[in-house]
Amino acid sequence: MALRFYNTLSQQVEEFHPLESNIVRMYTCGPTVYNYAHIGNLRTFTFEDVLRRWLRYRGYRLDHVMNITDVEDKIIRNAMAQGKSLQEYTAVYEEAFFEDMAKLRLERPERIVRATEHISDMVAAVERLSEKSYTYQSDGSTYFRIAKFPDYGKLSHTDFSGIRAGARVDVDEYDKADARDFVLWKARKENEPAWETSLGSGRPGWHIECSVMSMKYLGETLDIHAGGVDLIFPHHENEIAQSESLTGKQFVRYWLHAEHLLVESQKMAKSLGNIYTLGELMEQGYQPEAIRYLLASVPYRKKLNFTFDGLKSAATSIERLRNFNTRLETENFPEGVGAGGDERAARALNEFENGMDDDLNTAAALAAVFEYIRDTNSTMDAGGFRKGDVASAQDVMQRFDSVFDVLHPGEQAGGIPDAEIEALIEERIQAKKSRNFARADQIRAGLVERGIVLEDTKEGTRWKRK
Ligand code: AMP
Ligand code: ZN
Repeated sequence: MALRFYNTLSQQVEEFHPLESNIVRMYTCGPTVYNYAHIGNLRTFTFEDVLRRWLRYRGYRLDHVMNITDVEDKIIRNAMAQGKSLQEYTAVYEEAFFEDMAKLRLERPERIVRATEHISDMVAAVERLSEKSYTYQSDGSTYFRIAKFPDYGKLSHTDFSGIRAGARVDVDEYDKADARDFVLWKARKENEPAWETSLGSGRPGWHIECSVMSMKYLGETLDIHAGGVDLIFPHHENEIAQSESLTGKQFVRYWLHAEHLLVESQKMAKSLGNIYTLGELMEQGYQPEAIRYLLASVPYRKKLNFTFDGLKSAATSIERLRNFNTRLETENFPEGVGAGGDERAARALNEFENGMDDDLNTAAALAAVFEYIRDTNSTMDAGGFRKGDVASAQDVMQRFDSVFDVLHPGEQAGGIPDAEIEALIEERIQAKKSRNFARADQIRAGLVERGIVLEDTKEGTRWKRK
Protein backbone atom coordinates (compact mmCIF):
# COMPACT_ATOMS: atom_id res chain seq x y z
CA MET A 1 0.00 0.00 0.00
CA ALA A 2 1.18 3.46 -0.79
CA LEU A 3 2.15 6.10 1.72
CA ARG A 4 -0.96 7.88 3.01
CA PHE A 5 -1.60 10.97 5.11
CA TYR A 6 -4.71 12.46 6.63
CA ASN A 7 -5.16 15.83 4.96
CA THR A 8 -6.90 18.42 7.14
CA LEU A 9 -7.99 20.21 3.98
CA SER A 10 -9.95 17.29 2.49
CA GLN A 11 -10.64 15.59 5.82
CA GLN A 12 -9.62 12.35 4.11
CA VAL A 13 -6.73 9.95 4.21
CA GLU A 14 -5.02 10.47 0.85
CA GLU A 15 -2.20 8.78 -1.00
CA PHE A 16 0.86 10.96 -0.93
CA HIS A 17 2.48 12.04 -4.18
CA PRO A 18 4.65 15.13 -4.32
CA LEU A 19 4.13 17.63 -7.12
CA GLU A 20 7.54 16.95 -8.57
CA SER A 21 8.69 13.34 -8.81
CA ASN A 22 11.10 12.76 -6.00
CA ILE A 23 11.32 15.92 -3.96
CA VAL A 24 9.08 16.93 -1.10
CA ARG A 25 8.72 20.64 -0.42
CA MET A 26 7.67 21.00 3.16
CA TYR A 27 7.13 23.87 5.58
CA THR A 28 6.63 23.53 9.31
CA CYS A 29 5.77 26.37 11.68
CA GLY A 30 8.71 26.70 14.03
CA PRO A 31 8.90 27.99 17.58
CA THR A 32 7.99 31.42 18.82
CA VAL A 33 11.16 32.15 20.73
CA TYR A 34 9.77 34.07 23.69
CA ASN A 35 10.33 31.25 26.17
CA TYR A 36 11.72 27.71 26.46
CA ALA A 37 9.86 25.09 24.44
CA HIS A 38 7.62 22.81 26.50
CA ILE A 39 7.08 19.12 25.87
CA GLY A 40 3.82 19.90 24.03
CA ASN A 41 5.73 21.95 21.46
CA LEU A 42 8.32 19.19 21.35
CA ARG A 43 5.65 16.61 20.62
CA THR A 44 4.77 18.49 17.46
CA PHE A 45 8.42 18.91 16.47
CA THR A 46 9.07 15.21 17.13
CA PHE A 47 6.15 14.30 14.88
CA GLU A 48 7.71 16.48 12.17
CA ASP A 49 11.02 14.70 12.63
CA VAL A 50 9.34 11.31 12.24
CA LEU A 51 7.58 12.65 9.14
CA ARG A 52 10.91 13.79 7.68
CA ARG A 53 12.59 10.52 8.40
CA TRP A 54 9.77 8.48 6.97
CA LEU A 55 9.67 10.49 3.75
CA ARG A 56 13.38 9.90 3.35
CA TYR A 57 12.96 6.21 4.18
CA ARG A 58 10.51 6.11 1.30
CA GLY A 59 13.14 7.51 -1.03
CA TYR A 60 12.14 11.17 -1.20
CA ARG A 61 14.52 14.07 -1.07
CA LEU A 62 13.48 16.84 1.24
CA ASP A 63 13.46 20.56 1.02
CA HIS A 64 12.10 21.44 4.42
CA VAL A 65 11.86 24.98 5.72
CA MET A 66 11.15 25.85 9.33
CA ASN A 67 10.72 29.41 10.54
CA ILE A 68 11.71 31.00 13.80
CA THR A 69 9.13 33.53 14.93
CA ASP A 70 11.38 36.14 16.49
CA VAL A 71 9.04 39.13 16.42
CA GLU A 72 5.57 38.96 17.95
CA ASP A 73 3.48 40.54 20.73
CA LYS A 74 4.86 38.53 23.65
CA ILE A 75 8.44 38.87 22.45
CA ILE A 76 8.10 42.64 22.16
CA ARG A 77 6.45 42.90 25.57
CA ASN A 78 9.06 40.78 27.34
CA ALA A 79 12.05 42.29 25.56
CA MET A 80 10.90 45.80 26.41
CA ALA A 81 10.23 44.86 30.02
CA GLN A 82 13.79 43.57 30.30
CA GLY A 83 15.30 46.53 28.44
CA LYS A 84 16.68 44.26 25.71
CA SER A 85 16.64 44.39 21.94
CA LEU A 86 14.49 41.76 20.23
CA GLN A 87 17.61 39.97 19.10
CA GLU A 88 19.18 39.92 22.56
CA TYR A 89 15.97 38.64 24.02
CA THR A 90 15.23 35.89 21.48
CA ALA A 91 18.81 34.61 21.01
CA VAL A 92 18.71 32.75 24.34
CA TYR A 93 15.52 30.88 23.50
CA GLU A 94 16.51 30.18 19.93
CA GLU A 95 19.76 28.63 21.15
CA ALA A 96 17.90 26.63 23.79
CA PHE A 97 15.55 25.36 21.11
CA PHE A 98 18.44 24.11 18.97
CA GLU A 99 19.87 22.37 22.01
CA ASP A 100 16.53 20.67 22.65
CA MET A 101 16.42 19.59 19.02
CA ALA A 102 19.88 18.06 19.27
CA LYS A 103 19.09 16.24 22.52
CA LEU A 104 15.89 14.85 21.08
CA ARG A 105 17.74 13.93 17.88
CA LEU A 106 15.43 16.02 15.74
CA GLU A 107 16.99 16.42 12.33
CA ARG A 108 17.66 19.94 11.19
CA PRO A 109 15.35 21.10 8.43
CA GLU A 110 17.25 22.01 5.27
CA ARG A 111 16.58 25.66 6.02
CA ILE A 112 15.80 27.50 9.21
CA VAL A 113 14.69 31.05 8.58
CA ARG A 114 14.03 33.99 10.88
CA ALA A 115 11.09 36.34 10.50
CA THR A 116 13.18 39.43 11.27
CA GLU A 117 15.44 38.64 8.33
CA HIS A 118 12.54 38.74 5.85
CA ILE A 119 10.82 42.00 6.67
CA SER A 120 11.26 43.51 3.21
CA ASP A 121 9.81 40.37 1.57
CA MET A 122 6.80 40.67 3.84
CA VAL A 123 6.35 44.36 3.05
CA ALA A 124 6.47 43.54 -0.66
CA ALA A 125 3.81 40.85 -0.22
CA VAL A 126 1.51 43.21 1.67
CA GLU A 127 2.01 45.82 -1.06
CA ARG A 128 0.99 43.28 -3.69
CA LEU A 129 -2.08 42.31 -1.68
CA SER A 130 -2.98 45.98 -1.47
CA GLU A 131 -2.62 46.41 -5.23
CA LYS A 132 -5.10 43.57 -5.61
CA SER A 133 -7.49 45.27 -3.14
CA TYR A 134 -7.30 42.58 -0.48
CA THR A 135 -6.32 45.05 2.21
CA TYR A 136 -7.33 48.27 3.89
CA GLN A 137 -5.63 50.55 6.32
CA SER A 138 -6.77 51.80 9.65
CA ASP A 139 -4.83 53.75 12.28
CA GLY A 140 -1.57 53.04 10.48
CA SER A 141 -2.08 49.26 10.40
CA THR A 142 -2.90 47.20 7.31
CA TYR A 143 -5.56 44.49 7.47
CA PHE A 144 -6.57 41.60 5.25
CA ARG A 145 -10.19 41.82 4.15
CA ILE A 146 -11.58 38.33 4.74
CA ALA A 147 -14.80 39.05 2.83
CA LYS A 148 -12.70 39.33 -0.36
CA PHE A 149 -11.58 35.70 -0.12
CA PRO A 150 -14.63 33.44 -0.54
CA ASP A 151 -12.66 30.28 0.28
CA TYR A 152 -11.95 31.53 3.79
CA GLY A 153 -12.76 28.67 6.18
CA LYS A 154 -11.93 25.79 3.84
CA LEU A 155 -9.17 24.40 6.08
CA SER A 156 -10.97 24.65 9.40
CA HIS A 157 -14.25 23.69 7.68
CA THR A 158 -16.10 26.64 9.11
CA ASP A 159 -18.67 28.78 7.40
CA PHE A 160 -17.59 32.40 7.48
CA SER A 161 -19.97 33.61 4.81
CA GLY A 162 -21.63 36.06 7.18
CA ILE A 163 -18.38 37.74 8.08
CA ARG A 164 -18.53 41.50 8.30
CA ALA A 165 -15.69 43.40 6.72
CA GLY A 166 -14.11 46.03 8.89
CA ALA A 167 -14.22 44.15 12.20
CA ARG A 168 -10.57 43.99 13.03
CA VAL A 169 -8.00 42.36 15.24
CA ASP A 170 -4.48 43.61 15.34
CA VAL A 171 -2.97 41.21 17.83
CA ASP A 172 -1.26 37.97 16.90
CA GLU A 173 -3.09 35.86 19.40
CA TYR A 174 -6.81 35.83 19.35
CA ASP A 175 -9.79 33.83 20.29
CA LYS A 176 -10.14 30.77 18.10
CA ALA A 177 -13.89 31.15 17.74
CA ASP A 178 -13.48 34.66 16.45
CA ALA A 179 -12.93 35.35 12.76
CA ARG A 180 -12.20 38.92 11.93
CA ASP A 181 -10.03 40.71 9.46
CA PHE A 182 -6.50 40.05 10.58
CA VAL A 183 -3.53 42.33 10.68
CA LEU A 184 -0.83 42.13 8.01
CA TRP A 185 1.22 45.08 9.18
CA LYS A 186 0.95 46.48 12.68
CA ALA A 187 1.52 50.15 13.31
CA ARG A 188 4.15 50.96 15.89
CA LYS A 189 2.91 51.64 19.41
CA GLU A 190 4.83 54.05 21.62
CA ASN A 191 8.43 52.91 22.00
CA GLU A 192 8.05 49.49 20.44
CA PRO A 193 10.87 48.25 18.23
CA ALA A 194 9.76 48.87 14.64
CA TRP A 195 10.82 48.90 11.00
CA GLU A 196 10.47 52.00 8.84
CA THR A 197 8.89 50.82 5.59
CA SER A 198 6.59 51.93 2.81
CA LEU A 199 3.73 50.55 4.90
CA GLY A 200 4.65 52.91 7.70
CA SER A 201 6.51 52.44 10.92
CA GLY A 202 5.67 49.08 12.41
CA ARG A 203 6.16 45.35 12.17
CA PRO A 204 4.65 42.41 10.31
CA GLY A 205 1.79 40.28 11.60
CA TRP A 206 2.53 36.66 12.41
CA HIS A 207 0.55 35.07 9.57
CA ILE A 208 2.22 36.92 6.69
CA GLU A 209 5.57 35.69 7.96
CA CYS A 210 4.83 32.04 7.17
CA SER A 211 3.18 32.72 3.79
CA VAL A 212 6.14 34.76 2.65
CA MET A 213 8.97 32.59 3.91
CA SER A 214 7.41 29.33 2.75
CA MET A 215 6.78 30.56 -0.80
CA LYS A 216 10.11 32.35 -1.05
CA TYR A 217 12.04 29.12 -0.58
CA LEU A 218 9.62 26.46 -1.74
CA GLY A 219 7.60 28.06 -4.53
CA GLU A 220 3.93 28.97 -4.76
CA THR A 221 2.59 25.47 -4.11
CA LEU A 222 4.02 23.38 -1.28
CA ASP A 223 3.61 19.65 -0.91
CA ILE A 224 3.28 19.55 2.88
CA HIS A 225 2.62 22.12 5.57
CA ALA A 226 2.53 20.92 9.16
CA GLY A 227 2.05 22.18 12.70
CA GLY A 228 -0.02 21.59 15.81
CA VAL A 229 -3.84 21.52 15.67
CA ASP A 230 -4.07 24.88 17.39
CA LEU A 231 -2.60 26.45 14.25
CA ILE A 232 -5.40 25.30 11.92
CA PHE A 233 -7.42 28.35 12.83
CA PRO A 234 -6.68 31.16 12.49
CA HIS A 235 -3.00 30.84 11.56
CA HIS A 236 -3.12 28.38 8.68
CA GLU A 237 -6.49 29.60 7.45
CA ASN A 238 -4.94 33.06 7.20
CA GLU A 239 -1.85 31.73 5.47
CA ILE A 240 -4.10 30.21 2.80
CA ALA A 241 -6.03 33.47 2.38
CA GLN A 242 -2.85 35.51 1.97
CA SER A 243 -0.96 33.07 -0.26
CA GLU A 244 -3.81 32.14 -2.58
CA SER A 245 -4.85 35.77 -2.94
CA LEU A 246 -1.28 36.55 -3.96
CA THR A 247 -0.77 33.73 -6.44
CA GLY A 248 -4.19 32.50 -7.51
CA LYS A 249 -2.82 28.98 -7.00
CA GLN A 250 -3.33 26.28 -4.42
CA PHE A 251 -0.94 27.07 -1.57
CA VAL A 252 -0.54 23.66 0.08
CA ARG A 253 -1.47 20.17 -1.13
CA TYR A 254 -1.29 18.23 2.16
CA TRP A 255 -1.98 19.85 5.51
CA LEU A 256 -0.85 17.72 8.47
CA HIS A 257 -1.67 18.65 12.06
CA ALA A 258 -0.50 17.04 15.28
CA GLU A 259 -2.88 16.72 18.21
CA HIS A 260 -1.95 18.21 21.52
CA LEU A 261 -0.04 16.74 24.38
CA LEU A 262 -1.81 16.68 27.74
CA VAL A 263 -0.11 16.18 31.10
CA GLU A 264 -1.79 13.64 33.37
CA SER A 265 -4.96 14.14 31.24
CA GLN A 266 -4.97 17.90 31.73
CA LYS A 267 -4.18 20.81 29.51
CA MET A 268 -0.81 22.28 30.35
CA ALA A 269 -1.19 25.50 32.30
CA LYS A 270 0.95 27.69 34.49
CA SER A 271 -1.72 27.60 37.16
CA LEU A 272 -1.55 23.80 37.28
CA GLY A 273 2.26 23.84 37.40
CA ASN A 274 2.37 21.08 34.79
CA ILE A 275 4.32 22.72 32.00
CA TYR A 276 7.55 20.77 31.56
CA THR A 277 10.58 21.58 29.49
CA LEU A 278 13.05 19.01 28.23
CA GLY A 279 15.68 20.44 30.58
CA GLU A 280 13.43 19.96 33.61
CA LEU A 281 12.75 16.34 32.75
CA MET A 282 16.43 15.66 32.19
CA GLU A 283 17.26 17.25 35.54
CA GLN A 284 14.96 14.68 37.07
CA GLY A 285 17.14 11.99 35.52
CA TYR A 286 15.11 11.08 32.44
CA GLN A 287 17.07 10.32 29.28
CA PRO A 288 16.21 12.36 26.19
CA GLU A 289 15.88 9.11 24.24
CA ALA A 290 13.06 8.02 26.55
CA ILE A 291 11.33 11.35 26.02
CA ARG A 292 11.81 11.07 22.27
CA TYR A 293 10.41 7.55 22.33
CA LEU A 294 7.39 8.59 24.35
CA LEU A 295 6.65 11.55 22.08
CA ALA A 296 7.03 9.50 18.92
CA SER A 297 5.19 6.38 20.08
CA VAL A 298 1.67 7.81 20.06
CA PRO A 299 0.34 8.38 16.52
CA TYR A 300 0.37 12.10 15.87
CA ARG A 301 -3.36 12.51 15.34
CA LYS A 302 -4.14 11.11 18.79
CA LYS A 303 -3.88 13.22 21.90
CA LEU A 304 -0.78 12.23 23.84
CA ASN A 305 -1.32 11.88 27.55
CA PHE A 306 2.06 12.51 29.13
CA THR A 307 2.56 10.76 32.48
CA PHE A 308 5.65 9.89 34.49
CA ASP A 309 4.57 6.25 34.39
CA GLY A 310 4.50 6.49 30.61
CA LEU A 311 7.96 7.99 30.61
CA LYS A 312 9.29 5.17 32.79
CA SER A 313 7.78 2.55 30.54
CA ALA A 314 9.33 4.30 27.52
CA ALA A 315 12.70 3.85 29.22
CA THR A 316 11.92 0.15 29.77
CA SER A 317 10.96 -0.28 26.11
CA ILE A 318 14.28 1.23 25.06
CA GLU A 319 16.09 -1.22 27.36
CA ARG A 320 14.33 -4.12 25.66
CA LEU A 321 15.28 -2.83 22.22
CA ARG A 322 18.89 -2.28 23.25
CA ASN A 323 19.20 -5.64 24.96
CA PHE A 324 17.99 -7.37 21.85
CA ASN A 325 20.40 -5.39 19.73
CA THR A 326 23.31 -6.24 22.04
CA ARG A 327 22.34 -9.88 21.91
CA LEU A 328 22.53 -9.77 18.12
CA GLU A 329 25.92 -8.12 18.26
CA THR A 330 27.57 -10.19 20.96
CA GLU A 331 26.02 -13.64 21.30
CA ASN A 332 27.80 -16.56 19.71
CA PHE A 333 24.99 -18.23 17.74
CA PRO A 334 25.44 -21.69 16.21
CA GLU A 335 26.57 -21.82 12.57
CA GLY A 336 24.05 -22.11 9.76
CA VAL A 337 20.62 -20.65 9.10
CA GLY A 338 17.62 -21.26 11.34
CA ALA A 339 14.16 -22.22 10.13
CA GLY A 340 11.99 -19.24 9.27
CA GLY A 341 14.40 -16.54 10.48
CA ASP A 342 14.41 -14.47 7.32
CA GLU A 343 10.64 -14.85 6.89
CA ARG A 344 10.08 -13.61 10.43
CA ALA A 345 12.26 -10.59 9.73
CA ALA A 346 10.58 -9.88 6.40
CA ARG A 347 7.14 -10.10 7.99
CA ALA A 348 8.13 -7.76 10.80
CA LEU A 349 9.60 -5.26 8.39
CA ASN A 350 6.53 -5.40 6.23
CA GLU A 351 4.24 -4.73 9.19
CA PHE A 352 6.51 -1.96 10.40
CA GLU A 353 6.43 -0.28 7.00
CA ASN A 354 2.69 -0.75 6.59
CA GLY A 355 2.15 0.91 9.95
CA MET A 356 4.29 3.91 9.05
CA ASP A 357 2.76 4.22 5.58
CA ASP A 358 -0.66 4.35 7.22
CA ASP A 359 -0.50 8.04 8.17
CA LEU A 360 2.55 7.41 10.39
CA ASN A 361 0.91 4.91 12.69
CA THR A 362 3.91 4.66 14.98
CA ALA A 363 2.01 2.51 17.49
CA ALA A 364 1.40 -0.20 14.88
CA ALA A 365 4.99 0.06 13.65
CA LEU A 366 6.36 -0.37 17.17
CA ALA A 367 4.03 -3.27 17.89
CA ALA A 368 5.45 -5.09 14.86
CA VAL A 369 9.00 -4.60 16.11
CA PHE A 370 8.24 -5.75 19.65
CA GLU A 371 6.40 -8.81 18.46
CA TYR A 372 9.40 -9.65 16.34
CA ILE A 373 11.76 -9.21 19.28
CA ARG A 374 9.59 -11.43 21.49
CA ASP A 375 9.45 -14.21 18.90
CA THR A 376 13.11 -13.99 18.05
CA ASN A 377 14.20 -13.98 21.70
CA SER A 378 12.28 -17.22 22.27
CA THR A 379 13.77 -18.72 19.11
CA MET A 380 17.22 -17.76 20.39
CA ASP A 381 16.49 -19.28 23.82
CA ALA A 382 15.41 -22.50 22.13
CA GLY A 383 18.61 -22.62 20.02
CA GLY A 384 16.76 -22.09 16.73
CA PHE A 385 18.46 -18.81 15.84
CA ARG A 386 21.71 -19.17 13.87
CA LYS A 387 24.58 -16.99 12.70
CA GLY A 388 23.00 -16.78 9.25
CA ASP A 389 19.94 -15.09 10.76
CA VAL A 390 21.82 -12.19 12.28
CA ALA A 391 21.96 -10.01 9.17
CA SER A 392 18.22 -9.92 8.53
CA ALA A 393 17.54 -9.27 12.23
CA GLN A 394 20.03 -6.42 12.29
CA ASP A 395 18.42 -5.02 9.18
CA VAL A 396 15.05 -4.86 10.96
CA MET A 397 16.61 -3.07 13.92
CA GLN A 398 18.59 -0.66 11.80
CA ARG A 399 15.55 0.30 9.71
CA PHE A 400 13.46 0.73 12.82
CA ASP A 401 16.15 2.96 14.29
CA SER A 402 16.47 5.10 11.18
CA VAL A 403 13.08 6.49 12.21
CA PHE A 404 12.90 6.10 15.98
CA ASP A 405 16.60 6.70 16.71
CA VAL A 406 16.75 5.38 20.27
CA LEU A 407 18.99 2.32 20.03
CA HIS A 408 22.29 4.03 20.64
CA PRO A 409 22.96 5.81 23.90
CA GLY A 410 23.49 9.53 23.68
CA GLU A 411 26.39 11.82 24.36
CA GLN A 412 26.22 11.60 28.11
CA ALA A 413 27.51 8.05 27.71
CA GLY A 414 30.64 8.60 25.67
CA GLY A 415 30.30 11.66 23.45
CA ILE A 416 29.09 12.27 19.93
CA PRO A 417 30.24 9.40 17.68
CA ASP A 418 33.06 10.10 15.21
CA ALA A 419 30.91 8.97 12.29
CA GLU A 420 28.31 11.59 13.13
CA ILE A 421 30.94 14.31 13.26
CA GLU A 422 32.38 13.24 9.89
CA ALA A 423 28.90 13.19 8.37
CA LEU A 424 28.21 16.72 9.60
CA ILE A 425 31.55 17.95 8.27
CA GLU A 426 30.76 16.44 4.90
CA GLU A 427 27.35 18.09 4.94
CA ARG A 428 29.03 21.40 5.77
CA ILE A 429 31.35 21.06 2.78
CA GLN A 430 28.37 20.39 0.52
CA ALA A 431 26.47 23.33 2.03
CA LYS A 432 29.40 25.64 1.28
CA LYS A 433 29.62 24.32 -2.27
CA SER A 434 25.98 25.14 -2.84
CA ARG A 435 26.56 28.54 -1.22
CA ASN A 436 24.25 27.74 1.67
CA PHE A 437 26.54 29.49 4.13
CA ALA A 438 23.84 29.81 6.76
CA ARG A 439 23.63 26.04 6.96
CA ALA A 440 27.42 25.69 6.98
CA ASP A 441 27.68 28.11 9.89
CA GLN A 442 24.87 26.39 11.67
CA ILE A 443 26.69 23.05 11.47
CA ARG A 444 29.89 24.56 12.82
CA ALA A 445 28.01 26.26 15.67
CA GLY A 446 26.14 23.06 16.46
CA LEU A 447 29.39 21.12 16.71
CA VAL A 448 31.03 23.76 18.88
CA GLU A 449 28.05 23.53 21.19
CA ARG A 450 28.73 19.81 21.48
CA GLY A 451 32.39 20.36 22.26
CA ILE A 452 33.82 19.80 18.77
CA VAL A 453 36.00 22.45 17.14
CA LEU A 454 36.65 22.58 13.41
CA GLU A 455 39.74 23.87 11.72
CA ASP A 456 39.67 24.54 7.99
CA THR A 457 43.10 23.81 6.50
CA LYS A 458 44.47 23.48 2.97
CA GLU A 459 44.20 19.73 3.37
CA GLY A 460 40.56 19.94 4.34
CA THR A 461 38.62 20.23 7.58
CA ARG A 462 40.19 18.88 10.78
CA TRP A 463 38.29 18.46 13.99
CA LYS A 464 39.08 17.87 17.62
CA ARG A 465 37.28 17.49 20.90
CA LYS A 466 37.64 20.44 23.23
P1 AMP B 1 4.74 28.05 19.40
O1 AMP B 1 6.18 28.08 19.85
O2 AMP B 1 3.78 28.47 20.47
O3 AMP B 1 4.53 28.83 18.12
O4 AMP B 1 4.38 26.52 19.10
C1 AMP B 1 5.22 25.66 18.41
C2 AMP B 1 4.46 24.42 17.98
O5 AMP B 1 3.98 23.68 19.11
C3 AMP B 1 3.23 24.71 17.13
O6 AMP B 1 3.20 23.82 16.02
C4 AMP B 1 2.06 24.45 18.07
O7 AMP B 1 0.92 24.04 17.36
C5 AMP B 1 2.62 23.32 18.91
N1 AMP B 1 1.97 23.16 20.23
C6 AMP B 1 1.64 24.12 21.12
N2 AMP B 1 1.10 23.57 22.24
C7 AMP B 1 1.09 22.22 22.06
C8 AMP B 1 0.68 21.08 22.85
N3 AMP B 1 0.14 21.20 24.06
N4 AMP B 1 0.84 19.85 22.30
C9 AMP B 1 1.38 19.70 21.07
N5 AMP B 1 1.79 20.71 20.30
C10 AMP B 1 1.66 21.96 20.76
ZN1 ZN C 1 3.34 29.47 10.70
